[in-house]
Amino acid sequence: ILEVEDLNKFYGNKQVLHDISFSLNKGDVLTLLGPSGSGKSTLLRCLNGLEEFKSGTIIFEGKKVIPTAKNWQQLRQKIGMVFQSYDLFPNMTVLENILLGPVKVQKRPKAEVEKEAKALLKRVHLEQYANSYPRQLSGGQKQRIAIIRALALHPDLMLFDEVTASLDPEMVRGVLELIKQLSDEDHMTMIIVTHEMNFAKQIADQVLFLENGTIVEDTPGKEFFEHPKTKRAEEFLESME
Ligand code: ATP
Ligand code: MG
Repeated sequence: ILEVEDLNKFYGNKQVLHDISFSLNKGDVLTLLGPSGSGKSTLLRCLNGLEEFKSGTIIFEGKKVIPTAKNWQQLRQKIGMVFQSYDLFPNMTVLENILLGPVKVQKRPKAEVEKEAKALLKRVHLEQYANSYPRQLSGGQKQRIAIIRALALHPDLMLFDEVTASLDPEMVRGVLELIKQLSDEDHMTMIIVTHEMNFAKQIADQVLFLENGTIVEDTPGKEFFEHPKTKRAEEFLESME
């Protein structure tokens, strides 16, 4: 579904991604691991057109991405992204937040989308909050809403950047369970940046381990956690215990 070839990204004259190449099959979960500052968020942002890159190719669903603003706008309906900070619109209700993209951007019939939105809310056990405002929700609830808001656009690929990093520990589980369900039941293709190693171990089909903007390892999930190929990854896993 996704192929990235020799992606290079600079901030000013500082290179933050070096010749990044990998591919991702439909239905698979790729986990991006690496120390702080290694370029994980920057890579996700490049895959969603939120950052420009200097050189390299992204092929999504068999088509080379021509990086114009208009193309990215269309692609963002197929490539959903959820960040660490819940980015719900504060002046809209939960339901309005979910309906916005499908109705305003995708021009789907409101009644149909509303029905679907309510089913999604039910799925995450938040149906009673449809008419609440984001400020009336806990962090974990907001994050589940941010995820189903992205799902309402029917994406083919979901990008998650440390979606549990700013949550209280007791809120983390519900969010991770939802992501696990999306993999197991919906076979959603996903790229996940996380510091939750137990979760990564359970969910990763493939692990990309980044350091200083370079891929140090591209290893199947099970193998990465049992016998990482590099000393650097081994040390990283030890430091996360
Ligand atoms: P973390 O685990 O802390 O989230 P990360 O792996 O996501 O780290 P990035 O945020 O992708 O790392 O940052 C990669 C590098 O790019 C870092 O050296 C960072 O300082 C730099 N960087 C990130 N954003 C910018 C920016 N807007 N302008 C300049 N440099 C940036
Ligand atoms: Mg980051």
